[in-house]
Amino acid sequence: MNRTSLLSVLLALSLLTGCAAHPDGSAEHAVTIFAMDTVMTITAYGSGSEAAVQEAASQVRALEGLLSVTSETSEIYAANHSGGAPVTVSDETALALASALSLCESTGGALDVTIYPVVRAWGFTTGNYRVPEADELSALLARVDHRAISLDGNTLTVPAGMQLDLGAAAKGWTGDQLIALLREAGIASAKLELGGNVQLLGSKPDGSPWRIAVRDPFGEGYVGVLEAADEAVVTSGGYERYFEADGETYWHILDPSTGRPARSGLASVTIVAESGALADGLSTALFVMGGAQAAEYWRSNGGFDFILVSEDGSVSITEGLEERFTLSGDWAEAELNIVRT
Ligand code: ADP
Ligand code: MG
Repeated sequence: MNRTSLLSVLLALSLLTGCAAHPDGSAEHAVTIFAMDTVMTITAYGSGSEAAVQEAASQVRALEGLLSVTSETSEIYAANHSGGAPVTVSDETALALASALSLCESTGGALDVTIYPVVRAWGFTTGNYRVPEADELSALLARVDHRAISLDGNTLTVPAGMQLDLGAAAKGWTGDQLIALLREAGIASAKLELGGNVQLLGSKPDGSPWRIAVRDPFGEGYVGVLEAADEAVVTSGGYERYFEADGETYWHILDPSTGRPARSGLASVTIVAESGALADGLSTALFVMGGAQAAEYWRSNGGFDFILVSEDGSVSITEGLEERFTLSGDWAEAELNIVRT
C-alpha cells in the first residue's frame, strides 16, 4: 500500500484500536494512529493498558501540535516565522529542542536541525521532488547552522531566514515521553512502533525479550533479529523516503556539509540505546558520517550500540550486541564485523 492510500484508510477509520487476551491471561491493547508523518502503533499489556494507550495517543497528538514544522499553529512554526524575533515556547518544545541541539553539537553538525530550507528545496516535505542546482544549494546552506539557534530557558530565537526542523529527532523524544507516561500508568510491558522507531517498556508479558527485526535496506524481509528490552531500537536508511531522477537515487537524509543526500557507504543505521531521543538523532547522524566515523563516535561517546548495514552488503555491530543480534534468512552468510572499543 502506498503512503497516500494508507493515509486515507487511516483517516477513514480515524483511530484503530484493538484488544486481545493473551495465553498468560494478560490483556493486550493497541492503538494505531497516523501522526508525525508516519503510522504509529502503541501496544500495552496488563491492567490499565486500554486507558494508557489512549492517553499515549493523545500525548502524541499534543506533542505533534507543538513540534510539527508544517502545522501553522505549532511552536516550531511560530519560531520559524518570527522574522528573527524571540518567541516563548513550552517546556516540551524547549526540552525536545535542547536534546536535539546537544546531538547536533556532539556529532559536529552531521545532525543539523536547521537543515529544513535544504530539505524543502529537494521537495522532501511536499513530494514535489527535484534536484536543486549547485548554486541554489550553496545559497541555502548559508542558512544552515545549528549554532545560530538560541535557546535560553523557554525563549527560542531562530534567526531570520533560518528554519528549524525536528524531523530527525522528534519521534524518538516523543517515544521517551510515552514510555514515561505508560510507566507512570503502572504498565510494565509495552511496545511503541513509531515509523522506523521501536521503543520498548520492559520485556514481553511472559518475561522474555522482544525480538526486533532489522529491515533489509535493499528489499523485502530483514537482515537479522535483535533481542531487546527496556530500550529504543531506531533505524534510519536511504530506502525510507527517496526519489529517482536521471538514473540516480536521492534520499531524504542529507549531508549538512554538502546539502545533498548523504552517501557515506551505509545503507542503514540502527541505534540501540536507552533513550529514544539519542537513538533517533544518532541514527540520522551516523548515517551521514559513514562507518569509520560512526565507530569513532561510538568509541569516544559510548552510551549506545549500533548495527550498520553497508552498501557492499556487510554488517557491522558494536560488541555489546554480539550475544543478542543474529543475521537471518538471505543475510545468514553475510560478512559480520564486530566493532570493539
Ligand atoms: P525518518 O524520519 O524517516 O525515520 P530520520 O530520523 O533519519 O528518518 O530523519 C530524516 C528527516 O530528518 C528528513 O526527512 C529531514 O526532514 C530531516 N533531515 C535530513 N537530513 C538531516 C540531517 N543531516 N540533520 C537533521 N535533520 C535531517
Ligand atoms: Mg533519526
